Amino acid sequence: MAYFPDLSPYTYSSRRYGELNVGWLGPNIPFPKGDVPPEFVERLKQFYRFSVNATRGIEFCFICEPWMFSPYTGAPDESEKERIFDMVHNIEINGQIHRVYLLEIRVLGRDGKIYAAPTLIYHYVVAHKYRPPQEFIDAVMTCEPDWCRHAKKPREKRIGIRGWLLNLLDKIDPPDDRMWPVDEKR
Ligand SMILES: [Zn+2]
Repeated sequence: MAYFPDLSPYTYSSRRYGELNVGWLGPNIPFPKGDVPPEFVERLKQFYRFSVNATRGIEFCFICEPWMFSPYTGAPDESEKERIFDMVHNIEINGQIHRVYLLEIRVLGRDGKIYAAPTLIYHYVVAHKYRPPQEFIDAVMTCEPDWCRHAKKPREKRIGIRGWLLNLLDKIDPPDDRMWPVDEKR
């Protein structure tokens, strides 16, 4: 998986709107640890219901599943691997178990900053005590988990006869100007 420092500019996908990276941890790179409020952990989970950029790929935890990162010897047997896989990739949301595939979540801060976090951020927080930047924790606590379903791309200013025409065309055939298409593969 890709490593990016916390609060660096997001570049992983070509569909981007100035987001800041949070939780893109990587092997052999120290990360901040500490307690987080239990309400934060609960609320963070809700954002998985509204993920973006999902594929059927899998992202592995470099701490729990080091055999997925070469070179590595001494992997456990298959049943133990499976147990660990379920522990890393299953997440219980509102009483239902979801398998978390490769996906990202988006969180909007009160100041308009957008944060981009990878699949395993919840796992890193609960299993490895990763402590995201405080501004991200604050954003999760205030942002509506489904906000990115409704977020619209900024519109160019439309003036003159060309603008009038474009507005008219949009009325006839409204464009899908959401920032992120809805993920079907969750
Ligand atoms: Zn892990």
